[in-house]
Amino acid sequence: MTKKIVRKDGAVPQYYVEDCHEAIIEPETFDRVQEMIEQRSRVRHFSGATIFSTKIRCGECGGWFGSKVWHSTDQYRRVIWRCNAKYGGKAAGCKTPHVTEEEVKAAFVRVVNKLIGNRAMLLADLREVRQTYSGTDELSQRLHELDERLNAEAEMVQELIAQNARVAQNQDDYNAAYDAAVSRYEATKAEREKAAADICQRGIRRQEFERFITELEKLPKAVSEFVEALWGSLVEYVTVGKDKTMVFTLIGGTEMKA
Ligand SMILES: [Zn+2]
Repeated sequence: MTKKIVRKDGAVPQYYVEDCHEAIIEPETFDRVQEMIEQRSRVRHFSGATIFSTKIRCGECGGWFGSKVWHSTDQYRRVIWRCNAKYGGKAAGCKTPHVTEEEVKAAFVRVVNKLIGNRAMLLADLREVRQTYSGTDELSQRLHELDERLNAEAEMVQELIAQNARVAQNQDDYNAAYDAAVSRYEATKAEREKAAADICQRGIRRQEFERFITELEKLPKAVSEFVEALWGSLVEYVTVGKDKTMVFTLIGGTEMKA
């Protein structure tokens, strides 16, 4: 295992819609949310589907895997997951092979045991990365400055309006000054919203790191079978490659090949 498994570039999946209302939502996020809504609205005829729903993604086209039951009525019954694009959509004909639930579960067991085996190094890495998320003072200071600027610019607009009511003046000049002041205000407001979203995202990332660290510390010495609770607490999603390799993206952004 290399030290690269923890992504430090900050290019992390941003689907913290519920937590950061103001945050910028990436298109991929939107797709995922849509997918979740669709899947929830569908009637499920078998149990066990939900824990893998919108958790398995295609490494080729980027789409999500959907489930299908094979041999639903005989003893060979099994649930498989395959790229939703295989039979339609913008990436129709996607060739990424399907995976069975047994394969996904077995891969997850391998990943958990890898986590356990590398726990000490991993924890050291994560704690180091966590430091980079703790430096929000600078961001908070920036937000404070933007707030002050925004207030000043809002007052400027008010002042222009008040002045125009008091003094007779060229209305073309007035309108130009007014438009310019409003533009400045709007630009600062946009900048302020982005800064607030950044702070929020960082806060959540930090929480994710904390959670992952806690989960790692809690893991037993080894696992021999699939544990649904661990799946729920550790897995962000799994990416299936065209050679059927499975790469797990865990909470906090750590990636691990099964
Ligand atoms: Zn695909």
